[in-house]
Amino acid sequence: MMEPVLTIVVPCYNEEEVLPETIDQLQELLKELIIEALVSKQSKILFVDDGSKDRTWELIYKEGLRSEYVRGLKLSRNVGHQNALLAGLFTAKERSDCVVSIDADLQDDIMVIREFIIKFHAGYEIVYGVRKGRDTDTVFKRGTAQAFYKVMKKLGVDLVYNHADFRLMSKRAVEELERFTEVNLFLRGIVPLLGFRSDVVYYDRLERHAGVTKYPLKKMLAFAFDGITSFSISPIRFVLITGFVSFFMSLVFGGYFLALKFFGNTETGWTSLITSIWLIGGLQLIAIGLIGEYVGKIYKEAKQRPKYIVDIDSFNLPISRHHLLNQTLEDQGFSLDFRKVSETNK
Ligand code: UDP
Ligand code: MG
Repeated sequence: MMEPVLTIVVPCYNEEEVLPETIDQLQELLKELIIEALVSKQSKILFVDDGSKDRTWELIYKEGLRSEYVRGLKLSRNVGHQNALLAGLFTAKERSDCVVSIDADLQDDIMVIREFIIKFHAGYEIVYGVRKGRDTDTVFKRGTAQAFYKVMKKLGVDLVYNHADFRLMSKRAVEELERFTEVNLFLRGIVPLLGFRSDVVYYDRLERHAGVTKYPLKKMLAFAFDGITSFSISPIRFVLITGFVSFFMSLVFGGYFLALKFFGNTETGWTSLITSIWLIGGLQLIAIGLIGEYVGKIYKEAKQRPKYIVDIDSFNLPISRHHLLNQTLEDQGFSLDFRKVSETNK
């Protein structure tokens, strides 16, 4: 069998602090894999710059000029981890037999990639990296993540426990993934739906090598909420059931209050009346809010907006060629700075 072409896809958002180390380590690993004849010499590392505001792209670009293994994909603006990852996967699959996705912060043990490849040779099309423990995460992060998996499980969404987006996928699997055209794409939920032969590899989660998390609480909550509402209609069903229960209760209480009116003193009724107004009002608001959430999702899907926009793609056109191209264009008097062009047009 010919060695498979591997592309390692790394989404990066403001990762200048950790990136030089990540580039070194991944290149080192890739060279070893090539020497061990586990992957082809054509294998690459594709860094996706998700609209970073720091020197991230500069680092990727410069390394791309130097190294035959490093490629870059620059997105036109920040689209979030999931979409950046998809951009990388869909770009990489064109020239790869398998792709591995990994975060830029070196929290996932890169040595596990070797085991991924060995599994791929053994015929597995999807290999999930699964964390053994979460000792290095803060208590808070660990707790919230655990709760998230539990809730998802209750809602009937099939997730691989303690698996983030560190995984290997075959070209075929990525091609099938591309057919999921929904906009609210929650990868961890979708990939198990692909089927195919899959396996897991366990590893120890490490500390972030440098820099700070790009997932503050607000983004984390949004991510979890999206995950739940894009996969299950249980919340809507829950509202429905609550609605029925409160309707039934109001019938019972209604009868009771009527009995009071005819056989007792009605003065006391005001309290229960005002409470039930608030109660029903609240329930209605919750219901409407939740329905709105789903309607909003339908609205987004209906628009079918692209998930990302590529600015520069050095995977398909190596950076060195970009460089030459830019040089010749500039020699011919073209300005590559679009702001300058518009200024001369004035
Ligand atoms: N990331 C990205 N776009 C974003 C936010 C994050 O591409 O808008 C990348 C980030 O550079 C990193 C990965 O997604 O490679 C995971 O982010 P991070 O490590 O900050 O998340 P955590 O591990 O803390 O959940
Ligand atoms: Mg991280």
